Amino acid sequence: MPELPEVEVVRQSLDKNIKQKKVKKVIIRNRNLRIPIPLKFASYLKNKKIIKIDRFSKYLIFLLSNKSYILLHLGMSGTVHLIDRNKKKIKTNTSFYNSPILPKKHNHVEIIFQDLKIVYNDPRRFGFFQIIDNAYLLKKKFAHLGPEPFDTKFNVNYISIFFTKKKRNIKNLLLDQNFVSGIGNIYANEILFLCKINPNKKVSLLKKKDYLNIVKNSKKVLLHAIKKGGSSIRDFKNISGKKGDFQSDFKVYDREGLDCKINNCTGIIKRKVISNRSTFFCNNCQK
Ligand SMILES: [Zn+2]
Repeated sequence: MPELPEVEVVRQSLDKNIKQKKVKKVIIRNRNLRIPIPLKFASYLKNKKIIKIDRFSKYLIFLLSNKSYILLHLGMSGTVHLIDRNKKKIKTNTSFYNSPILPKKHNHVEIIFQDLKIVYNDPRRFGFFQIIDNAYLLKKKFAHLGPEPFDTKFNVNYISIFFTKKKRNIKNLLLDQNFVSGIGNIYANEILFLCKINPNKKVSLLKKKDYLNIVKNSKKVLLHAIKKGGSSIRDFKNISGKKGDFQSDFKVYDREGLDCKINNCTGIIKRKVISNRSTFFCNNCQK
């Protein structure tokens, strides 16, 4: 599943390629995504300009020329492909958790511009598009979600209030989108490793210095992953068909049985299922 860094890589690519471009035509081949595509979607988008592409958490937000928005969530397996209309046989598409060649099946939506088009592909159809009429409704849409790790609201004070009287473990809370938005399983593992906190630890046992480490390392891990172009598990590729390579920097994720990467640490990376998710940690330096 794409997490915040992978969605941000797609956002940057889309912003670079379709910003300020006017939609010529929209083709919908299958409306039955997680939320059905609205009947008016194609006519609504036609002749509107894409002012820019923003992101909140794992949502891509297309700002349109009439100050409304289109949301796109990639779900489990959604990928966005960019096809240059003048060079039909040359592979110029973006791809997400998929091959750089446009798949033959599951191309549900095409948004066509003068010189290029974007194609939304989604075999499992957990992704969705939504029209949001104005900034107020957009804010309302995200009101139940916690701040992103990059938000100044995600600070020691916020964490100490949120953790009060909670009996859950820290790994479970890092994955809770009501607490913090955009952290998924891979990055939760990596963040807790840098914090030297055991993923199974109850949040009631954490100290103020742990809160500070969580704030600092959440930003650090996500920024580093974005810089690296995301993680290329299951063949994630960015807009230019280039693979992200954060996975070579994984400290614990998918490293069961291997040595801890910290100098002088004799620990071994263990794997345990916590809250139904594979959890990786060093049995020596994460207490
Ligand atoms: Zn270690």
